[in-house]
Amino acid sequence: MISKWYRAAVICLLLPSAYPGTLARTERLDRFEFSQPHMGTEFRIVLYAPDARRAAQASDAAFKRVRELDSRLSDYRETSELMSLCRQAGGGPVKVSDDLLRVLLEAQKFAEQTTGAFDVTAGPLVRLWRRARRRSELPDPVRLSQARELVGFDKMHVDERTQTVRLAKPGMLLDLGAIAKGYAADCALAVLKQHGVTSALVAVGGDIAVSAPPPGTRGWVIGIASLDSRGKLPRHYLSLRDAAVSTSGDAQQYVEIGGVRYSHIIDPRTGQAIQGRRSVTVVAPNGMTSDALDTAANVLDPRSALELIDSTEGAAALIVQAVGQSSRTFESKRWHHVPKGAPRDVR
Ligand code: AMP
Ligand code: MG
Repeated sequence: MISKWYRAAVICLLLPSAYPGTLARTERLDRFEFSQPHMGTEFRIVLYAPDARRAAQASDAAFKRVRELDSRLSDYRETSELMSLCRQAGGGPVKVSDDLLRVLLEAQKFAEQTTGAFDVTAGPLVRLWRRARRRSELPDPVRLSQARELVGFDKMHVDERTQTVRLAKPGMLLDLGAIAKGYAADCALAVLKQHGVTSALVAVGGDIAVSAPPPGTRGWVIGIASLDSRGKLPRHYLSLRDAAVSTSGDAQQYVEIGGVRYSHIIDPRTGQAIQGRRSVTVVAPNGMTSDALDTAANVLDPRSALELIDSTEGAAALIVQAVGQSSRTFESKRWHHVPKGAPRDVR
């Protein structure tokens, strides 16, 4: 089955930047890289450790945690905790794990802030549009309006005190594809830290979280692909530490029907897939925030998207929107302050 977590290609380049002599370490650390398929995409870890044994121990533990998250948050595994919750839709409150509670509380926060432009109850609509992409034909209007009846963050009740979730209508379907990869990247970084690895990068498709910079550098240099990324070098490079960056858009997942380009991102308020071409890059203090914000900023008009970013602590965004054959760029207030890198910083 095609997973909705799938992203056809990693859209960011990951490069260490060199600023010799900025950090003095007593212990020599080497660079190690690990990669495994998880959540329907490549899960990549780059870390600095004193030796191969400690690097492998730390990354094994991080991947184990990611497998655990997948078993809780995945909407394409029938056996996941999330799908079990969905099967109980229309019934009473269901006790959920700490992970599912945290992600759903955060999702509800963004749903309220965006009055439903970001909404993880959009599952029934996402499924219809995914089918539309596979068949290259628009969803049936009757089925679309039936699906819309099951969508709405006001139909999901998350109770932090009792650690329960109640889905009001039978047939409701949650989809965490816009937020769970960022959360998984945060959790993987936390496990690496527990294993003594303080300098690491975790990349899950277009969602990247980093801890301290590589030894002797000021940050992890991350290239942001241009709107039409095929075969082109990134136009912007960031240099990040203890932060996350997510890039989202329709560059890889879209369908063109009747000359109109439809994205894999849906506007849950209308039931329609987003049209036109846009690439959004969000920097935030953690991956769950950058992941959710970049999807939300794809649905909102650029002005509302920038307002949302500016009102989120520590967040910054760059939005590039295609206008005919050219493009328009929008920057949030803090974008200017995000440390920039350059290809020449590559060692
Ligand atoms: P991302 O690549 O992080 O932008 O996430 C996109 C995925 O999130 C889609 O493939 C859907 O599974 C899901 N999704 C699409 N539209 C929305 C939306 N408006 N709110 C929440 N999740 C969405
Ligand atoms: Mg997202």
